[in-house]
Amino acid sequence: MKKHSRRAFIKQLAGGACALALPSFDARSRPGNKRLGVALVGLGYYSTHLLAPSLERTRPCYLAGIVTGTPAKVEHWQKRYAISDSNVYNYANFDQIANNPNIDVVYIVLPNSMHAEYTIRAAKAGKHVWCEKPMALSVAECESMIKACRDNKVSLAIGYRMQHEPNTQTVIRFGKERLYGKVKAVSAAAGFYDNRADHWRLRKAMGGGAMYDMGVYSLQAARYCTGEEPIAVTAQHFTTRPTIFQEVDETTVFQLEFSSGAVAHCKTSFGMSLNSLRVNCETGWYQLEPFQTYTGIAGTTSDGRLLNAAIDSQQAKQMDDDALAILQGTPLLVPGEEGLRDIRVVEAVFSAAKTGQRVVI
Ligand code: NAD
Repeated sequence: MKKHSRRAFIKQLAGGACALALPSFDARSRPGNKRLGVALVGLGYYSTHLLAPSLERTRPCYLAGIVTGTPAKVEHWQKRYAISDSNVYNYANFDQIANNPNIDVVYIVLPNSMHAEYTIRAAKAGKHVWCEKPMALSVAECESMIKACRDNKVSLAIGYRMQHEPNTQTVIRFGKERLYGKVKAVSAAAGFYDNRADHWRLRKAMGGGAMYDMGVYSLQAARYCTGEEPIAVTAQHFTTRPTIFQEVDETTVFQLEFSSGAVAHCKTSFGMSLNSLRVNCETGWYQLEPFQTYTGIAGTTSDGRLLNAAIDSQQAKQMDDDALAILQGTPLLVPGEEGLRDIRVVEAVFSAAKTGQRVVI
């Protein structure tokens, strides 16, 4: 199959245009044995140390291109990952990626405030989009990203790697199957000590702050462990370093109420290391600690099970899952709608912390 017809085929699959039974093929048996070409947008910490190395371990996709505003990075990346000149872009000529048949997926790994713009530009260029968490800064931005992808018949996945992680998937299943009865209470805490005094994560306009960055892990855990959407929120912000945290939250605690009667107590911080998830149910409990590190997710249950399935790379697993969903025309594990559901709650958390009121969602 020629490149352009392969692209049209992939696009057709992801657009859901195929009403007939979809051909089921894996990475090795695809037409022409081709893999999806991924372009990373933003070559900072996460792209450099986690995503690019993981793209060497993925099977249905590979690192084909880069988009960067820093020319000094280009030569190293081209050499290290054998990226051709024609697959290198900057932020000004990024839209020309539309004409590049070697790029199937654009992965947005930029500061949070830039996710919406680059997702929409990638969608308009006809590329599938993978966007890092948090999806964007507001519900309105998330909705415009979803619309742009739908209008351009491309798929949109959010980089919530935990939902692809096997121990996390086990606790999600425990909740769904009510193995320990109904979920009654979730405690989830995600944070790290950030000693930087000057970074976009400290700037409000860039989508900085602990809640957007790490709070979404606690929030995700509360949502995937209960399997419910919260109906009301209370929240408080704290800081112990007011000279550094002038614009954004250093620590946020928030409480979620669910219609089943379950509650969640969540915490997130740039001022302390936090990494635990505990789920109390009618007839038992389970916990993961750590629950959101890149490796070593592990836990126990009230009846003595050990949760310690190991995988090589969460990021490779996530990208394998997302690439196969595109190729096979199956639903994404974490589509844009899931990122939007989080941001709806994040907006309520900010409103509750600001007003001191319980906010009904
Ligand atoms: P980073 O600061 O290390 O990298 C950001 C990149 O964006 C840099 O290459 C920088 O040059 C570029 N950039 C372009 N315009 C910029 C601007 N105006 N200001 C600042 N930088 C600009 O950040 P990171 O840690 O790589 O995070 C990037 C994204 O990835 C964020 O959305 C973050 O939430 C996400 N992330 C996800 C995980 C995860 O586990 N899923 C982990 C880390 C980061």
